[in-house]
Amino acid sequence: MTDGDRLSQLLHTLHQRYQSLREGQVADYIPELSKVDPDLFSICIVTTQGEIYSVGDHDHLFTVQSISKVFSYGLALEDHGRDYVLTRVGVEPTGEDFNSIVLDEASKRPYNPMVNAGAIATTSLIKGKTPVDRLNRLLEMFNRYIGHDVFIDVSVFLSERMTGHRNRAMAHLMRNFGMIDDPIEESLDLYFQQCSVLVNCQDLAIMAATLANRGINPITQERAIDRRYVRDLLSVMYTCGMYNFAGEWAYTVGFPAKSGVSGGIIGVVPNQMGIGIFSPPLDVRGNSVRGVQVCEALSQDLNLHVFDCQGC
Ligand code: GLN
Repeated sequence: MTDGDRLSQLLHTLHQRYQSLREGQVADYIPELSKVDPDLFSICIVTTQGEIYSVGDHDHLFTVQSISKVFSYGLALEDHGRDYVLTRVGVEPTGEDFNSIVLDEASKRPYNPMVNAGAIATTSLIKGKTPVDRLNRLLEMFNRYIGHDVFIDVSVFLSERMTGHRNRAMAHLMRNFGMIDDPIEESLDLYFQQCSVLVNCQDLAIMAATLANRGINPITQERAIDRRYVRDLLSVMYTCGMYNFAGEWAYTVGFPAKSGVSGGIIGVVPNQMGIGIFSPPLDVRGNSVRGVQVCEALSQDLNLHVFDCQGC
């Protein structure tokens, strides 16, 4: 049996094992998301050599949601550089929910780019002469990571735009402290649009593999992000990507990851692979229940903890 056969078999075993797990709730605070089938489930791995392993509903489309925050942070860093972006959004974990309305008391910055407040501040930094230019730059960025054109789910975008009062309130608070600039409705729209980008599980794994491959998409060989910023994205994913579960995640699973409320998770094992998982039911922290279990199992079975020191 080749290594590839073994990996493929492992994915099938894990898919079968966790398919029957019936815990968690599908997100319903964005009304459109509540319509999803909770049984959808897929696991994909893409190696930095460009090999693809998929099991389950790997081509089912869903909205990327908070996973987009990693990638828009990269674009903001490319647009403004590290020093300036740090004046607008910090890199400290919050220990709070993903949508908590807290800013750092002293600096007035949102804590980090992986929680909603920080992501709205990050997205507000994306350059472009018009709202359409800014959106196109964002979509082109996703195209580079994924390797094909991406589209927005307009129903999800409008659903969140109409009901996203909490995010709107945070944007106003940050505007008050000068952390985001006018027009804030334009930046909020861009944030809701980036959350509504449609991807499938295999796309997630390719995006993650691009980060594992120092910013070069391992399938198309196209560079998606300036190499010098890859470490920034991975650092905030590692410390903040799983919200108030980030510490336990770093301890037990041990690779940078990011989750989204539609049930996606990406995991990045530098120089080895990108992992994508999709399963909509979430735990109380907003992370996919099956996704967390699968990552724990993958980390153990494949020795993926970045601080594991097997044989050293
Ligand atoms: N669009 C969602 C929001 O802003 C994203 C949250 C998430 O995926 N955790 O609430």
